[in-house]
Amino acid sequence: MPSERWKISVGGIVQGVGFRPFVYRQALAHGLAGFVANTSEGVAIEAQGQARQLEDFLVALRKEAPPLAQVGKIRFAPIPLSQDDGFVLHHSVASGPVSTLISPDVAVCEACLAEFFDPADRRFRYPFINCTNCGPRYTIVQRIPYDRPHTTMRGFTMCAACQREYDDPSNRRFHAQPNCCPDCGPQLRLVAMDGRRVAERDEALSEAVRRLAAGEIVAVKGIGGFHLAVDATNGQAVSRLRQRKGREAKPLAVMVPHLFAARRICRLELLEEQALTSQARPIVLAAKKEGHGLAEEVAPGYDQFGLMLPYAPLHFLLLQEGVVRALVMTSGNRSEEPICIENNEAVQRLSGIADCFLLHDRDIHLPCDDSVVGLQAGMIRQIRRSRGFAPKPIGLAETGGMVLGVGAELKNTVCLLKGDQAFCSQHIGDLKNLEGYRVFQQSIGQLGALFEISPTLIVHDLHPQYLSTRWAQEQSVPTLAVQHHHAHLAACLAENHQDGPAIGIILDGTGYGPDQTIWGGEVLLGDARGYQRFSTLESLPLPGGDAAVQAPWRIALSYLHAAYGTDLPDLPFMEAHECGVILTMVQKRVNSPLTSSCGRLFDAVAAMSGGRQIIQYEAQGAIELMQVAGDRLDEEGFPCEVYAENDMLKISVRSLIRAVAQAVQAGMAQSEISRRFHAGLVAVFARVVEEARRREKINTVVLSGGVFQNRLLLEGLGASLERAGFQVLLHKELPCNDGCISLGQAVIGRAALKKR
Ligand code: ZN
Ligand code: ZN
Ligand code: FE
Repeated sequence: MPSERWKISVGGIVQGVGFRPFVYRQALAHGLAGFVANTSEGVAIEAQGQARQLEDFLVALRKEAPPLAQVGKIRFAPIPLSQDDGFVLHHSVASGPVSTLISPDVAVCEACLAEFFDPADRRFRYPFINCTNCGPRYTIVQRIPYDRPHTTMRGFTMCAACQREYDDPSNRRFHAQPNCCPDCGPQLRLVAMDGRRVAERDEALSEAVRRLAAGEIVAVKGIGGFHLAVDATNGQAVSRLRQRKGREAKPLAVMVPHLFAARRICRLELLEEQALTSQARPIVLAAKKEGHGLAEEVAPGYDQFGLMLPYAPLHFLLLQEGVVRALVMTSGNRSEEPICIENNEAVQRLSGIADCFLLHDRDIHLPCDDSVVGLQAGMIRQIRRSRGFAPKPIGLAETGGMVLGVGAELKNTVCLLKGDQAFCSQHIGDLKNLEGYRVFQQSIGQLGALFEISPTLIVHDLHPQYLSTRWAQEQSVPTLAVQHHHAHLAACLAENHQDGPAIGIILDGTGYGPDQTIWGGEVLLGDARGYQRFSTLESLPLPGGDAAVQAPWRIALSYLHAAYGTDLPDLPFMEAHECGVILTMVQKRVNSPLTSSCGRLFDAVAAMSGGRQIIQYEAQGAIELMQVAGDRLDEEGFPCEVYAENDMLKISVRSLIRAVAQAVQAGMAQSEISRRFHAGLVAVFARVVEEARRREKINTVVLSGGVFQNRLLLEGLGASLERAGFQVLLHKELPCNDGCISLGQAVIGRAALKKR
């Protein structure tokens, strides 16, 4: 049979993940000659052999690819035969535009773990063990191409043994950029509060474990930043952490040594177990189990724990000693600031919180919080997309110009579009503090550099005062302002590869509207090209603006005033408060901006029905209101009127509030009130959407906005709309909260470029 020679190019995540050695082994296995090399486009192969073998080889390239590789497009074409000396593995051929992808950080792999726990191995208990199948990537790479001198491992020179592995194509560590060992790599040290060195290497580790067992708070440097760790079974210790961190009640994430331990603490569905053990190792929100054995202080008043499994080798050491069964592992920051990444910075910023610091000398280039996911509407969905996921691109249906979306003010992410891919950053967080703003700028620079994207358009929020808006306007690139809820709609469409138009039910806390009121309970019609506000919750005064968000009783009072005027019903919650001041404020409209926010409606109903009067963390009132409802909605909801006004359908918040007030006066249990309230919302939005379909002949509905983290509402409304024959689109790769705004902005920007 005559031979053929094929030129093959492979795109996708194929660099720094052991792909070339894999190609090399496959070529040998299929009896092919030729070569493989990294190029700026991915991996280039020339292979020569019989046609049948070449075909099998191509199939194997996709099917057998190493675990971290994500094989994108494979192109091939026959070329003239040539003389080869077997199959050769070449180094990088660097030139031209770079389109190969940097992988997210990945949990330590099974093969490395086996060595890690093997007393005979030279990396026995070495916390920085890694290979081409695992280890840090996104958080240590400083620029491209992804080579050791371009990472924070630059300062460590490989010893002879490590270098041999690095150079050997048959080795698992061939070109593993962070490759190292106890002789040549980073080391641990334990440092006291005042910066004094207490212990080093393995001794630092055992001392840290001893201190954790004694109830101390240890700041632990991990992959994407510092954690504050404390024994999760020690209530006093957890309370102390809460006090010092200024975090009264918000649930804290817990790390347990293995899946069996997780099963003792939570009732886990199969999908949740898969998420827990996945390479990304996110925090998984799952239902608490009776007799879980953790301190109540970990997640007080919450029916779920945020669980995760160890992902850095160091975590295994902290937990597998068996001394501590479960560790609270919460982001090493002061509330709402980004996670600490530098040793000195951590000792400074976390002093007064941590009793000691478990440090190491592998620098973290970019902060990356733990990701958070949860099982909702039949799928594991993102709540905070960060370490382990970013910067993995999200595939788009279409290609277009390079555009940057700078995201929302809170839960900020940024997103760069290039070709048919969207590169969404890790969770950056709150842009109201300077640290957050610094990481925001750094992340834009990093993503742009890694993927060689220089945007021709920057898209920002409509709000003129946001730091992100001002940053965008300082750049020498054209800008576009986009309404927050329009971005929600466009993001969900883009993730689902849908063009629209769609009916978007967008329910959240806050978004600046073009009418300068605060939006947040919207039914929009449209797509990336534009939108129309079809329906909205009534806009009611928010006494004190942001201050009211912290004090839901004020909102309850304001909404009752809107519903009843001065003739307020007498409800038990009012007794505890100075109602007169707030009522005067709303009557005179002093510092009381109007809002159609659905989040605020939840707050009001929670406060009226005896729930949270003052919240300790975001959405606490709404979350607790959902929890008391139990697992299912009653058939009958509170009645909610809808009326036409200014070419819009207005959903009468006032009629809902009156129904809730009557129920409270009639002595209805809060659980029942909650179910009827949820059911009422489902019914009224289903009705409005039905009307939109009748008028506009649109059958696709998008559900987006942070309120949809409420699983009762998401699942209840989703099911109701599907029964009515709608195509219902939900977020799949990005959170429904403001973490998706940057993608929505960017795709709207792209649509605008196309129009021009
Ligand atoms: Zn490994
Ligand atoms: Zn070494
Ligand atoms: Fe939002």
